[in-house]
Amino acid sequence: MANSKYEYVKSFERENHLLPDTYIVIRVDGKGFHKFSKFYEFDKPNDEIALEVMNDAAHKIMEKYSDILMAYGDSDEYSFLLRRKCELYERREMKLCTLFASLMSTYYMFYWNQYHPNRPIVWNMIPTFDGRAIVYPNFEVVRDYFSWRQVDCHINNLYNTTFWNLVKLGLTPQEAEQRLMGTVSSDKNEILFKECNINYNNESEIFKKGTILVRDYENYRVQQEDGLSSRQKQRQEKIRKKAEISIMHVDIINDDTWWDSRPWLKE
Ligand code: ATP
Ligand code: ATP
Ligand code: MG
Ligand code: MG
Repeated sequence: MANSKYEYVKSFERENHLLPDTYIVIRVDGKGFHKFSKFYEFDKPNDEIALEVMNDAAHKIMEKYSDILMAYGDSDEYSFLLRRKCELYERREMKLCTLFASLMSTYYMFYWNQYHPNRPIVWNMIPTFDGRAIVYPNFEVVRDYFSWRQVDCHINNLYNTTFWNLVKLGLTPQEAEQRLMGTVSSDKNEILFKECNINYNNESEIFKKGTILVRDYENYRVQQEDGLSSRQKQRQEKIRKKAEISIMHVDIINDDTWWDSRPWLKE
């Protein structure tokens, strides 16, 4: 940029560099998707294609940035875990948040239009996402973070499944809401079973558990990051890029083996 007398205004800018040596989670969430899903007439409680669109968009982001080791998504949100030593954009918070949010928005639009050639996105109802970054000091909290999101997915899905099946039985949305007020999980399971003839356990795993994308190495060896030359770092990045991205809909709250068999997530 050429120097000018106006250059000084740049000094007003403030940049937050996310704490080094901590796990970064970036979460994006669709803006006003309650309305968005009504407008595009999503299947309720779960529109499978809309979930595919989210998963494809997140997968694409993960392919693009090898620093993302795993991602978890449900509904209109996705959380991306960046490795502890990540130096992407010097860990600049604004750069990362705005970038992830805009990538999600544009990829969402792209994949939506691929799945729905006859129902493309129209200008007055476009998908937009916000983004935030959170840093976590140790892996225990990272695991709790993902447990928190998966529990949230479960609670929302059980509620929505019961709600929409009551509506299908002929209750008005207000009546269904009233019926569910003050109920706990076992009550909802019972309503579904007795009144709607649905065994919640048989619902699709993607609805109950959400989607996990995780970078899986074939022959993983622990790598010491400190003191590596830039060439060695590049080689490591190449290995990360090569690792296959697995897609699954499984319990990650109680399954220690799932985490223990992927030691690179902690690195
Ligand atoms: P960063 O990701 O750091 O923003 P950048 O490549 O986007 O990197 P900018 O400083 O934002 O860098 O500069 C934008 C660049 O995009 C310009 O240097 C110019 O080369 C190019 N560019 C943008 N708009 C136009 C345009 N309308 N016509 C030709 N070139 C353009
Ligand atoms: P905000 O802008 O505050 O995020 P929001 O309307 O997006 O508001 P959320 O709490 O993010 O509210 O909830 C997202 C809503 O989007 C859900 O309540 C649900 O109605 C809808 N939704 C998202 N994905 C799907 C899907 N695959 N199938 C059906 N409905 C969905
Ligand atoms: Mg939302
Ligand atoms: Mg949401």
